[in-house]
Amino acid sequence: MRAQPKASHYINGRFVDDERGAALPVIYPATGETIATLHSATPNIVELAIEAARAAQGAWARLKPVERGRILRRAADILRARNEELARLETLDTGKAIQETLVADPASAADALEYFGGAVASYNGDYVDFGGSFAYTRREPLGVCVGIGAWNYPIQGAAWKSAPALAMGNAMVFKPSENTPLSALALAEIYTEAGLPDGLFNVVQGYGDVGAALTSHEVVAKVSVTGSVPTGKKVMALAGSLMKHATMELGGKSPLIIFDDADIENAVGGALLANFYSTGQVCSNGTRVFVQKGIQDRFLDRLTARTKAIRIGDPLDPETQMGPLVNKAQQDKVISYVGIGREEGATLHYGGGIPALQGFEGGFFVEPTIFTGVKDEMRIAREEIFGPVMSVLSFAEEDEVVERANATEFGLSAGVFTRDLPRAHRVIAELQAGSCWINNYNLAPVEIPFGGFKQSGIGRENALVALDHYSQIKSVYVETGDVDSPY
Ligand code: NAD
Repeated sequence: MRAQPKASHYINGRFVDDERGAALPVIYPATGETIATLHSATPNIVELAIEAARAAQGAWARLKPVERGRILRRAADILRARNEELARLETLDTGKAIQETLVADPASAADALEYFGGAVASYNGDYVDFGGSFAYTRREPLGVCVGIGAWNYPIQGAAWKSAPALAMGNAMVFKPSENTPLSALALAEIYTEAGLPDGLFNVVQGYGDVGAALTSHEVVAKVSVTGSVPTGKKVMALAGSLMKHATMELGGKSPLIIFDDADIENAVGGALLANFYSTGQVCSNGTRVFVQKGIQDRFLDRLTARTKAIRIGDPLDPETQMGPLVNKAQQDKVISYVGIGREEGATLHYGGGIPALQGFEGGFFVEPTIFTGVKDEMRIAREEIFGPVMSVLSFAEEDEVVERANATEFGLSAGVFTRDLPRAHRVIAELQAGSCWINNYNLAPVEIPFGGFKQSGIGRENALVALDHYSQIKSVYVETGDVDSPY
């Protein structure tokens, strides 16, 4: 199986390479085979990309917003028309089951392009009346923005960053995760086909050092990174030392609270979505499932039955519900956490092993895993595992569970299942998390802001607020009378 792109990078509307860059193998996670080999960007490639973005940005910013938006909406149509081909590419890159990538990846990228392409024309400054004289504000682009992606939603991540950036009149240099470099290149070609002028969306490949080189470049005005908290801290410190704008979409260890009165099938469905979608590699996952004592046995029965029925295997088979993890290191990490959970005294209720799958012996699979009897202080309840490992914890009272749910340095997401709606809103208001759900989990439509409290992030993606984060305000005072000067 091969998925070799024409070259490693996409700069100024064309593919380019510099084979002196470190080799960057692309591995199909279901089999372990190398399907492409790219090169990490050399300093020369970084320079070319940033110069292309700088040169293109001014004329783009001077277009009417509606004209910029039209190009993004055309790109959204192309993404939708190529959904199947792009979903397959995303499955090869990430290992995620095709039944997910067909509905969640290029589709949500298209949603972002369509949304920001339409919204930007109505995104304006303010008018302030001083009874004669007045002031107005302008929303102006920042200039050259850098996007740095994680591996779990590669094309979605590239679109969630580039759509608001481009709509607002910025140029972008995007660095995908070194684990999943392919689909951002496809997005770049689609932008060109949709009529985006050359240089406005550039893709450079590389490891963390390339991300750091982009972030620290003097031309760059802003960096938006999706990744782990340790990476976010490094990028934020670097951006801060150079006084650059920054958006951080980082990790989590989110609570999902299930009260006694919840609809049991919906609550189980929510917990499964919150832990096993994308083989558990979702930043907002509700990996601490707090279940109230009265519902615990029934919840566990149904949870176990439905987990046993999950079809794990060939990600390209439309019947498969769970593919492998992204790479061997992530598989090793998840398996090591299974060991840690057992040593800490949690009960391995289901899974925890590597499934034997004929024809996929070299893949990075891990069974969907459920720990019960988990205590708040255990590492499996405090640290982000980023794999299909659910911790079930038990609670008695509302106040108690709110306090325990908030006892974490993370604050990305939270969920509540209950039929008691006053309680649902009361509890959600107390939870320290940026993206919350009542009676569902992990839905992230582009129309609502997405992002975290506490160490899970700074700034927001999606919704109109994302345009705030890709623009700066200019205030203009306009005098209509004489200048009252004492001099
Ligand atoms: P990671 O932190 O290892 O890497 C993220 C990106 O940062 C990669 O492109 C990497 O090359 C780059 N990078 C690494 N060091 C850098 C540095 N010093 N300077 C600049 N760039 C650098 O994350 P990952 O393992 O790819 O993704 C998993 C993590 O991402 C998890 O913690 C997950 O929760 C988080 N995540 C968050 C969101 C969100 O929206 N909040 C979404 C998806 C994933």
